Amino acid sequence: MVAQQSDATRPRRTRQSGGAQAAPAGAAPERKATTGPLPSLKRRARQVNAILSDYYGPPTRPNGRADPLSELIAVILSQHTSDVNSERAFDSLCARFPSWEAVRTAPVAEVAEAIRSGGLAVVKAPRIQRVLTQILEARGELSLDFLADLPLEDARAFLRALDGVGPKSAACVLLFSLGQPAMPVDTHVHRVAGRLGFIGPRTTADAAHEQLERMVPPAEVYAFHVNLIRHGRETCKAQRPRCPRCPVNALCPYPAKAV
Ligand code: SF4
Repeated sequence: MVAQQSDATRPRRTRQSGGAQAAPAGAAPERKATTGPLPSLKRRARQVNAILSDYYGPPTRPNGRADPLSELIAVILSQHTSDVNSERAFDSLCARFPSWEAVRTAPVAEVAEAIRSGGLAVVKAPRIQRVLTQILEARGELSLDFLADLPLEDARAFLRALDGVGPKSAACVLLFSLGQPAMPVDTHVHRVAGRLGFIGPRTTADAAHEQLERMVPPAEVYAFHVNLIRHGRETCKAQRPRCPRCPVNALCPYPAKAV
């Protein structure tokens, strides 16, 4: 029953907002530009992660996790819209239909109406129904709980085979619901990782997932993901990165950085 699921099975919404503690008071001291060779990529990634955890506060996982199927539906609803809108759409979907099977078999227009607040409803409604049907046909039930027993790459392959589930969506389910060390790469992670030289200038966000996953130890993937999002939103902004106040300025090779 979608609408009767316990809170523990509901998607968590803190993933997009970073899930980190409040930033410490006061600005970071200005840092000098890098003058010597930078440490190796992996070492620098860990240093950056540690510095950002100090600066913004260690990322904390929310209590409880959504079940992976709920997480997947929430992730589909979050595509190309804000957290607020997608959460509203998910709640509306759960209120309108008593089970995922009811969502799967409903007239597509009714599903679209239920998720209208999430935007792109005419795209997402049939996508959700196709995904539910694919899961049912593959597994004989509407559940993704079995993914918890699979190796990471097998679980990722199953998710990626579903209609409209790309590397970021799959990684969100793996990381946030299943606690696997998968790295979702959104626009902030992609931009910040590029400026820090962790990925090449022509590396796409899709290709960056596995590169960044290999760069940090599994236990640090969640914090790395959250820290880069937080850093991208608050300091390494798209238009005007605040390089003089940046806590990892000394480790950053971004050629346009100000010091
Ligand atoms: S120094 Fe500038 S470009 Fe580099 S990570 Fe910091 S804010 Fe971003």
